[in-house]
Amino acid sequence: MVGQAVRRTPAAALLVLAAACSREAPLVSRAPGASRSVVLRNVRVFDAPRAVVAEGLRDVVVRDGRIAAVAPPGVVAGGIAELDGHGGTLLPGLVDVHTHTGASAYPPWQVVFPDVQDNLAAFLYAGVTTVLDLGNLTPEVFRERARIASGAHLGPRLYAAGPIFTAPGGHPAEVLRAWLPWYLRWYVLPRATREVSTAADARQAIAALLPERPDVLKLAIDARTGAVPRLDVEMIAAITAAGHAAGLRTVAHVGSSQEAVDAVRGGADALAHAPWWEELTAEAVRVIAAARVPVMATLAVWDLAGTPRTRDADFLPIEREVGRPPLIAALLAPPPAFDEATRAMVRAAAAGHDARRRNVARLRSAGVPVLVGSDACNPGDLPGAGLHLELSKLVEAGLTPGEALRSATWENARFLGGEGADFGEIAVGKRADLVLVDGDPVARIDDLGKITRVLLDGTVLARRTHA
Ligand SMILES: [Zn+2]
Repeated sequence: MVGQAVRRTPAAALLVLAAACSREAPLVSRAPGASRSVVLRNVRVFDAPRAVVAEGLRDVVVRDGRIAAVAPPGVVAGGIAELDGHGGTLLPGLVDVHTHTGASAYPPWQVVFPDVQDNLAAFLYAGVTTVLDLGNLTPEVFRERARIASGAHLGPRLYAAGPIFTAPGGHPAEVLRAWLPWYLRWYVLPRATREVSTAADARQAIAALLPERPDVLKLAIDARTGAVPRLDVEMIAAITAAGHAAGLRTVAHVGSSQEAVDAVRGGADALAHAPWWEELTAEAVRVIAAARVPVMATLAVWDLAGTPRTRDADFLPIEREVGRPPLIAALLAPPPAFDEATRAMVRAAAAGHDARRRNVARLRSAGVPVLVGSDACNPGDLPGAGLHLELSKLVEAGLTPGEALRSATWENARFLGGEGADFGEIAVGKRADLVLVDGDPVARIDDLGKITRVLLDGTVLARRTHA
C-alpha cells in the first residue's frame, strides 16, 4: 500500500509543515567516533532460529561491530566498555521487509512533506536495524541507501526496490493521482511508479533502472474491489523474467486471491501482502505453497486503513514515543468526507479484518513462510513502531510471540541476505545489530516495546522520545 502527502487548508498546512520541520533533537544519535565494541553482561538471549529464549544468562561480547562471543556470565573481555543487562532480553535487531522510508505517516488529506531522516531515526529507535523499502522516489532512495552505507546518514541498513511497476493508471498511481496536489503530482508520479503497458515497455524501464542497482523489483497487482487497471499474468511474467535475467527477485503487491495466484503464476518471488480484502481460495493457498513463495502478511496497515484510531489509548506506547504530538493529533482528528472510491476502499479494508487473519493461519498451516512487514510509512503506520504493531497483530492471528519474533529477525534476514545472512541472529561472527528489552517479549509480545538499548553495528545509540 502506498499513500502520501496531500490537501488541506493552506493555513493549517503551514502549521503542520512548521511542526514537522522544526529541528528538535533526533530520536537517535551516534557520537562521532563512537566505539563499536562492548560487553553486554547478564542478558537472556533470544535464539531466533529456534524461536525461544536460551536457558540462563549470558555475556555477549561485541568487537568491531561483530559478535565475538556468547558465553556464561563472567567472561573476561579486557579493555572494552561494559553494560549490565540486568536480566533483560537481548534480540537480534528487527528486520522490516515492507517499508516506504520516503513517505509520511500523516493522513493523506494533509500536505506534509515526508521527513526521511526522522523516519530513519524512528526505525532505529524502535529496534529496527534493517529495512526493505518497497516503493519510493527514484533515484532519491538509492542515494539515501548510499549515504547510510557510508555512515553519512544514520539509519537502518536499507535495501530498496525504487519505483513500483504497474499498469497505466494502476495502483498506486491511481491513489497518488487522486491525493497529491498538482504541484507534487508531476514530481512524484514518474519517480514513484513505472506505468508499463507492454512487455517491451517493461523491459526498457527495467534496463533503465539497473544502473541504480535495485535490491529487488516491486510490482503492484491490485484492481481494488472495482475498476482499477492491473497487470495481467503475461505482463507479470515479462517483468519477473526481465528481473530474473538481471539477477533480481520480484516482490508483488496483491489485493485479491486471484491476484495472488496470477502473481505466483507470473513468477513473483514474494507477495508484499496477503490478499487484504478477501480470503484466499483453497486453490490459491495450494499455488502459493507449491511455489514456496513467502508472504508478507501486513495485517496492521489494512486494519489501520479500515479502522483508524480514535483514542490516544489505541496507540502502543512505542508509537507515542516515535510519533510527534502533532502527528498523533492529526491521526486522531476526524477525517473529511471521502469520495466514493476511498469510501469503498475503507469499507473493504474494514470488512476484510477476519479474512486477513484466516489467510495468515491458512498460509502457515500450508507451510508458507510468513514474513513480517509493517508497510510504514503509510498513513497512521509509524516507522519502526509499526513493526511492533504488526507483531502484536500476528500474535492475535495465532503465531506465538516467539514465532512472530523469529519471522521479524531470522526469517526476514534470510529473505534479504540469503541462507548465509550475517544478521538476524545472535551468534558469533554476526553483525552486532542488537536490541535489549526489559522483560520477556517471547512470553508477552508487548514487552518488545520496553527497549532499553539499541546497538547498530556494535555502537550503542543514544535514544530520546519526541514526547
Ligand atoms: Zn507498501
